[in-house]
Order: sequence, then C-alpha cells, then structure tokens
Amino acid sequence: MSTTGTAWKQLDFAIVGAGLGGLTAALSLRRAGHKVTIYERYDFSGEVGASLSVASNGSRWLLKWDLDMDAVQPVILRNLLMHDWETGEVTKQYGLGDYKEKFGSEYYNFHRIDMHRALLNTVQQESGAGIPCRLLTQHKAVSVNVEQGKIDFENGVSVQHDVVIAADGIRSQVRRAIGIEPVIEKSDSCCYRCIISTDKLEQLGLGQFVTSEAIEFWGGFGINKIVMSGCHANEVVSCYCFFPAALNGLDKDGWNIGATPAELCDTFPGLDPRVKLLFMNAEDIKMWRLYVHQEYPFWVKGRVALLGDAAHPMLPDQSQGYCQAIEDAAVLGEAFGPDLFGGDVQKTLRIYERVRKARATRVQTASAKARVDLNERIGWSTGLERPGKLTIEEVCGYDLAGHVREVAASSM
Ligand SMILES: Cc1cc2nc3c(=O)[nH]c(=O)nc-3n(C[C@H](O)[C@H](O)[C@H](O)COP(=O)(O)OP(=O)(O)OC[C@H]3O[C@@H](n4cnc5c(N)ncnc54)[C@H](O)[C@@H]3O)c2cc1C
Repeated sequence: MSTTGTAWKQLDFAIVGAGLGGLTAALSLRRAGHKVTIYERYDFSGEVGASLSVASNGSRWLLKWDLDMDAVQPVILRNLLMHDWETGEVTKQYGLGDYKEKFGSEYYNFHRIDMHRALLNTVQQESGAGIPCRLLTQHKAVSVNVEQGKIDFENGVSVQHDVVIAADGIRSQVRRAIGIEPVIEKSDSCCYRCIISTDKLEQLGLGQFVTSEAIEFWGGFGINKIVMSGCHANEVVSCYCFFPAALNGLDKDGWNIGATPAELCDTFPGLDPRVKLLFMNAEDIKMWRLYVHQEYPFWVKGRVALLGDAAHPMLPDQSQGYCQAIEDAAVLGEAFGPDLFGGDVQKTLRIYERVRKARATRVQTASAKARVDLNERIGWSTGLERPGKLTIEEVCGYDLAGHVREVAASSM
C-alpha cells in the first residue's frame, strides 16, 4: 500500500525523445516498476563529442539506479581552477577533496557519448531491476492528446499510454502541442566546443591539462570564457569556448556548425598560449548558438509532462542542464514509486510539477547570471557576496526524496 492509502499500480509510460533526459527518465521509471516505451525521431541520438559534468545532485541517482559508472568511463573531479586569461597562472582554486563526504557521491566528468551509450544499454538490458524498456526509433511525435495520452507520429503510427513524458529537447514539439508558446531570445554568446586526445596533449608538452582532475576556467567575467576538463577515463580533454555572438555577425544558428583551428584561435586574442596551442591541434571543432528561455507557465497538462531541456532549457554556465533532467527523472520515480503512488496519474504529475518547477527555474536563472560572472557559478559562489546566490550546498546537498514526500503529504 502507498502512503496515499490506495494500492500502487503499474503504469504504461511513453517517453518522447531518447536524449540524455529521456533515457534517464526511462531508467528511473523502470526501476520504479513501470513499463516504459521510448520514441525517438532519429535512428540514433545526435549526442555530441564533448564533456558533461555531473554533480552529486545527479550522480547519486545514477548510482541508486545501478548505472554502471565504470562503463561510463568517468573522471572524478578534485578541483575547480581559475586561470589568468593571458598568463595561465592559477589565480583561484576550489578543492573538491571532501565533496563525496559532504554530498554523498562524486562530482563526475563524462564524455557525453559514453553516457548516452551506457544509458541506452542499461534501460534496454534484460538484467537489472524492472522491465526492460522498449526503444522505437524513426518515430517523430507530431501531436498529442493530453486527456487520452495519445501520440501521433509522422510515420502514421498512433499509440496510447497512461502517461506521456515529453523529453524532446530545447525545441520540443510536444511543448507546443500542450499549448506553450516559448519566449526565446538569442543569447549574446556563442560557444565552440572541441576535443583533443591526451596522447596528443602529451606530445605537445601540455600534459598538465591531463592530470589536473579539474574543471579549469579562463575568463568568465564578461562573455569570453574557456572551460576545460578531462573525460573518457582521461583519454580525452574537452573544451567549451564562449565568445560574443556578434563575432559571427549573429547569423549562424544551430549546434553543429564546423570551424577550423585558426578560426577558434583567432576568436580569443591574448589567451594563454598553451590553450592556443591546444586549439591549433584540436579535433571536432563545432559551434553552438546559445539561447535564453523564460520559465514556462506550466509543465504538466492532463497526462503529459515536460522533462529536461523541453521543460527548463538553460544556459550551460552552471553545468546543471542534465543534472536538472536527472532530478526530474528522480522526482517521477519517487512520486510514481511504490511508497507514494496511489493510482491518480494527474494528481501525481501535479506533485512532479510542484516539486520541480521552482527549483529548476532557480537554477535556470542562476545559469543566466553565471553566463557573464563566474562568481555566480556553484563552487565559486559562496552565498556571502549577495544574499540569495545559488550555492553548491543548495544544489548538491538537496534532499529530493524528502521534498517529494513533503509535497505529496500536503497534496493529500
Ligand atoms: C555547451 C553545453 C555544455 C553543457 N554542459 C553540461 C554539463 O557539464 N552538465 C550538465 O548537467 N548539463 C550540461 N549541459 C546541458 C545538457 O547537455 C542538456 O540539458 C541535456 O543534454 C538535455 O537533454 P534532453 O534529453 O532534455 O534533450 P536532448 O539532448 O535535446 O534530447 C532530445 C531528444 O528528443 C528527440 N526528439 C526531438 N523531437 C522529437 C520528436 N518530435 N519526436 C521524437 N523524438 C524527438 C531528439 O532527437 C533527441 O534525441 C550542457 C549544454 C550545453 C549546450
């Protein structure tokens, strides 16, 4: 029996979108005992070759759901480092030595493709708790009926589920289908991403970037910022390089626009020559156009709920977009889990929205602030400089399960 007094019942969930958010929701709901079908528009996800840091507010749930962390080939982060833009000298350090003791799980850095692959395997494999999820590719959702939980796909197929989770990303079509007109502005910033193998770094005499076990920052006070970190068991170093969109004439759009090493270097005059040397030898250089989204008026309608970037697209400057999607997934798993779910789908989705929307919006707002002020980023922010600043304690020390229980109890 659930704490709501009625018997728990197994539901049949649809998840639209097999990105990191959708797959993580599938994992959480599988572990909570439900049936899950994931619908993806492409044959495979367009996940990109770049790093992804996952703080403890996300990693503790991945561990709880038995994701094989070794298979994701992580780097465990031990430091945040600030460098002088020109000389590269370390000007500030935030040690993460006691991070696991404080928050219960490590601050991990992954290669995004490793994480996507591990999630795909884990949700579909026979072994492990719960029913293996089904993944159907070439299913592009074009409309939903929120009362019936019905989805129509471009290929002519229609399906009906007890609950529809829209994890279809920043340009979500399901979001529009439930009546949300997003207010989106182009950010004044663009971002190059690139990677380099650690073998190559060592040949170039840049081995110090391999062994740092850190997220390293240059700039960050104003638009320009370089964020470097190791991933893929430290065999790859990944850089995000933020710069004014005005330099592109503001006309390039998308997240996969190729660039040359020279273009990357020329974008950052005066930068630490070691980083420029890395850039001249970097691979897979791509440009990302960044957007600013306002909070949506609601996340849930009838049997449909938004999750991940479909619900709370945010600038990347708190490294929290995926972590917030993990929290979304965890709240669904708790609220629809055996201890709390009493059979009322719409009431439980409202609990999901009550728990998640304010917290994710707070992180979304803080991410926009951190775009041009590194002292707003968790770890660097202390909360002493300005009351109300988002801090690492608030993000990583969060008792999600307790919050869900509290909101569920007040919703009875
Ligand atoms: C530069 C940068 C750096 C970042 N770094 C970090 C970090 O360090 N840590 C962190 O936590 N977060 C980070 N993020 C954020 C994180 O990458 C995103 O929040 C996360 O990937 C969002 O996942 P998602 O599944 O919600 O969306 P997506 O990854 O966009 O997935 C959506 C999926 O839905 C599919 N889809 C779309 N429309 C349909 C449809 N109609 N029907 C069926 N399928 C559909 C797509 O093909 C895709 O597979 C970063 C983001 C950026 C831009």
